[in-house]
Amino acid sequence: MKPILIVDDKTENLYLLQALLQGNSYEVLTAENGAEALALAKKSPPSLVIADILMPVMDGFSMCREWKRDPVLRPIPFVFYTATYTDAKDEQFALSLGADLFFTKPAEPDVLLKAIRKLLDETEASGMARAGSTEQPDVTFLQKYNAVLIRKLEDKLEELEKANAELRALDIMKNNLLMNVSHELRTPLTVVRGYTELIGNGSSGPITEKQATQCAVMHNNLDRLLHMINNLLYMADPESCDKDRKVVNIALEELFIVLKDITHIKAAEKSLGMVFQETAAIVRGDRHEVMQALFNLLDNAVKFTSKGGNVSVSTETTGGYVRIRFSDTGIGVPAEEQQRIFEQFYQVDTSTTRRYGGLGLGLSIVREIAQRNGGRIELSSGPGKGSVFTLILPAAT
Ligand code: ADP
Repeated sequence: MKPILIVDDKTENLYLLQALLQGNSYEVLTAENGAEALALAKKSPPSLVIADILMPVMDGFSMCREWKRDPVLRPIPFVFYTATYTDAKDEQFALSLGADLFFTKPAEPDVLLKAIRKLLDETEASGMARAGSTEQPDVTFLQKYNAVLIRKLEDKLEELEKANAELRALDIMKNNLLMNVSHELRTPLTVVRGYTELIGNGSSGPITEKQATQCAVMHNNLDRLLHMINNLLYMADPESCDKDRKVVNIALEELFIVLKDITHIKAAEKSLGMVFQETAAIVRGDRHEVMQALFNLLDNAVKFTSKGGNVSVSTETTGGYVRIRFSDTGIGVPAEEQQRIFEQFYQVDTSTTRRYGGLGLGLSIVREIAQRNGGRIELSSGPGKGSVFTLILPAAT
């Protein structure tokens, strides 16, 4: 017997049906859409065709119409087997096009097999003389076809809206979880950091020089952890950080001292030359946010610069703005990636994730903070040429 042709754009559906038919000793041919199926059937007509409705390139309805227009293919039984937003009108339309059967997924395998066997027997008994032309005038076909497609589109839109609402609810849940976890982590870390400082500076009793150095390393790493947690909190809900916002004048020199302190151990590990140009620049913004943005930029400069490279931080005040420039001699960013790296979770090369670590959040937060404080972020870079990230913030007046 000639093979049965099954047509579906979803590989898993093809696979299931194929397995069922082959398991019952039918030979099977497959196609991914109507056009491919027609081409295949014209070359070698099957004994029966089973098609889905919604498929790219050519859907099942158009395929059925073409099928029934072809004098060679017309007598071959045509079965619709579909799950996509099916209702009685779809079935009516399919049968009006000349289809022999209409099944909704998932059908009981036994029922499906019995129907296929019956159709094949009938076709054989009638010596392929069955099924007269079901040709409909173009206008009638198009009217019905449009109505079916519009109905399907409406159903699909409804499904999408439902899925969207579910996704939004999940997103809120995820953000709440992130915020709760971050808050829970931040509180004990802050306490540990405080005690490390007290022990390290000798307030809790005399310590050796070695212990003081070790405390400094602990303190430094706790600071880094706190900044990472702040990034997560900021991402989860930037608006919630609003309640603590205070726009003040900030002397950058003070922030640079803290930054140097947090990053110097990591920079020393890579033997980086780190230069903080002296500055008298004063910006206006929220201190906590500005510090977070500066930390993210400096941390990246250190992270993406290889051993022996250089990182420098400088400022320039012009036209009511302070330009804070982070220059590095690191791996650089290709032109086509320079927009995308400011998106949440985007990292140029995911394989670098393992090499450099990070969550892909830092720059999206820098951009958000720049905008919230009336500034912006600029980048000039190229692969292997290093990078200059410039954070532009309003100068204090
Ligand atoms: P993360 O550093 O955690 O990956 P970011 O949002 O801070 O996330 O940065 C996103 C991506 O931008 C990085 O993964 C990296 O590919 C690129 N990038 C950021 N800063 C630099 C830099 N100074 N040099 C080269 N690439 C950088």
